[in-house]
Amino acid sequence: MSSSIILHIDDKADYFGLVLKTKSGGLVLARPEGVSEGQQAPGSGGPGAKPILLREPCDLCGGKAKCAKVCPTGCIMVVD
Ligand code: SF4
Repeated sequence: MSSSIILHIDDKADYFGLVLKTKSGGLVLARPEGVSEGQQAPGSGGPGAKPILLREPCDLCGGKAKCAKVCPTGCIMVVD
């Protein structure tokens, strides 16, 4: 529940996306349709899950992003 990143996968619809809370407080929304940034408050991904706006912002794990390191498909990457 303290994660700065939320993945959403819908196998039936063959759809996926993720939301990342940044240090500026803005959210990055990444979907197959493209990437957008803003302050919108999307669903948190499950009943009782802590809304992402209440979570800690991403600090890139001190320069070694753990989510990118463990991502099994390589779809999470850190770029400048
Ligand atoms: S880089 Fe670290 S803090 Fe940022 S979303 Fe990934 S695991 Fe979380």
